[in-house]
Amino acid sequence: MSVDKAGVKGTKNGPIVSPLFTPGHLACPGCGGTLALNRVLNVLGKRTVIALPACCFSIITGAFPHMPLNVNLVHTAFETAAALATGLKAGFEMTGRGDVTVMAWAGDGGTFDIGLQALSGAAERNEDIFFFCYDNEAYMNTGNQRSGATPLGSWTTTTPTGETMDKKDIMGIIAAHHIPYAATASIAHLDDLDAKVKKGEEIKGTKFIHILSACPTGWRMPSDMTIKAARLAVKSRVFPLMEIFNGERRVLNYRPEELTHVRDYLGLQGRFSHLTDGEIEEIQRRVDERWKKLVASVDEVRPADDGIEYI
Ligand code: SF4
Repeated sequence: MSVDKAGVKGTKNGPIVSPLFTPGHLACPGCGGTLALNRVLNVLGKRTVIALPACCFSIITGAFPHMPLNVNLVHTAFETAAALATGLKAGFEMTGRGDVTVMAWAGDGGTFDIGLQALSGAAERNEDIFFFCYDNEAYMNTGNQRSGATPLGSWTTTTPTGETMDKKDIMGIIAAHHIPYAATASIAHLDDLDAKVKKGEEIKGTKFIHILSACPTGWRMPSDMTIKAARLAVKSRVFPLMEIFNGERRVLNYRPEELTHVRDYLGLQGRFSHLTDGEIEEIQRRVDERWKKLVASVDEVRPADDGIEYI
């Protein structure tokens, strides 16, 4: 049994619900994003303020005076999470409260697409903020329209025959800003996520953490498949766990010992149920190609803690 910074009891790898994010929120059952935010707040603690652009969490956190979060949160427009976080941090510093952690918590739309200009500006200036992207791979808040994070082949309401483009390389874009720390994380590897948030706390400047947050509603799968889908995304190498320091030094945190075919991952989800065998093989080919390039580019392979086995 351990007690973490926020005073939460739990086993090392056990599921931990943060006292900073209480039950009674309005997420769909099995929402991966809520698990991710629980863990992030457990690490960052109470002196944290969230800049929240339009996204599922605009609904999940409820309407005033209902509030499942025990930290302060400011709602903002879709495109302004990083700009708001920048202003909040500057305000805290000017009023002698520079120890307050400011984090943006944005979905993929507020990161890859509509929020990218503000994120790019903050990253270029190396603002001392966290920017978390909980990525459910579409505009789920408004009923599953495609975003720049939607993967090839995925059904959405705006790609009724399947997405025709590859997911945007957000880590490549972020790395090009040379911020001190960028990482990917998964809700199936929670200790790895914890470690990355803790590492970010030690670093002054912009920290970007991209969390693949499985979404049973939009991914069209049962709500008890959230962790399994997230784990298979990593095992199949569709979503590698990695870190990038100063835009250059790259660390791969997980190299699967056995190859898992993308079919196992895609087959869990109704959004890919229309794909032919040939289309699945094409996705596998692209995953293999990206993995090969990634492995060739990393400076180090350091194992991630394997996290919770919910499968
Ligand atoms: S639509 Fe998906 S991301 Fe949004 S609250 Fe529901 S499960 Fe979570």
